[in-house]
Amino acid sequence: SDKSVLISIGDDTAAVKVSKGKTLLATTDLLTEGIHFDLRYISFFQLGAKALLVNISDIAAMAGIPRYALIAIAVPDNIKIEELNEIYRGIKKTASAYKVSIIGGDTSGSKNGLMINITLLGEAKQGNIVKRDGAKPGDKIFVTGTLGDSSAGLELLKNGKRKGFLINRHLRPTPRIKEAYFIAKNRFATSMIDVSDGVATDLNHICEQSRVGAVIFEDKIPLSKELKKAELKKGPLEYALSGGEDYELLFTVKRKNVKNIYDAISRNRLSATMIGEITKKGILLVDREGMQRPLLPTGFNHFK
Ligand code: MG
Ligand code: MG
Ligand code: MG
Repeated sequence: SDKSVLISIGDDTAAVKVSKGKTLLATTDLLTEGIHFDLRYISFFQLGAKALLVNISDIAAMAGIPRYALIAIAVPDNIKIEELNEIYRGIKKTASAYKVSIIGGDTSGSKNGLMINITLLGEAKQGNIVKRDGAKPGDKIFVTGTLGDSSAGLELLKNGKRKGFLINRHLRPTPRIKEAYFIAKNRFATSMIDVSDGVATDLNHICEQSRVGAVIFEDKIPLSKELKKAELKKGPLEYALSGGEDYELLFTVKRKNVKNIYDAISRNRLSATMIGEITKKGILLVDREGMQRPLLPTGFNHFK
């Protein structure tokens, strides 16, 4: 039904009309069974939905609007047709919620577990895009929402729990599309990234690309009340810093715009917390006693 889709599934390629003054964004995420998901903990429907949601989060990180998706799935013999349909149902429900058109894809058998690869195209107004390389010393660092919930939820799933806020945060991430658009439209951010691998790692990406350092304060890290009271192996801060899969936004703000961000927060336009500041170099974590230590990029690494 989307009029900008000129050719959809069925031809050699899809064709979409790219409008004037807009930038095309493209991202892809490959989810592999045993690496990114475990079918003991996630339903087929949730898996389909999450495969698309994590891509939408990357479009959000650029302050773009998600538009078109291509879905590639490799399916092992043990997956039933009804289960495959559930994956597609999860994808389609999410696609319609975010007004994404599915315009193509591919399917294949697999001898090594289930794999889902979604390529997502999005658009942004030229000049509205927020990259990773614009942070400057003195900028304040903000994050949306709360951190650590998703990885704590995964641990609870592994411990046999099946329900609750943290588990929900793991199974169903919320890409911050509206928040990102609001931040970008008002030119509030100098850089932005979605927190997919944990703040420790993703802040490192910002610092590397912007050639700056950062200091963040332990007592400022936003933690949900559910994470604080959950019975887990490690302390809440560890999940928040290195857990990953929160899909919140981390963004940096020039001093003169910090007041505007606080205004937006108080008017409920944005849920965000200031966690630190960009410096010239080195990435430091200041604990509750005021002691500093280097914050190493110890987030989720698929190859470890
Ligand atoms: Mg990606
Ligand atoms: Mg990302
Ligand atoms: Mg990603």
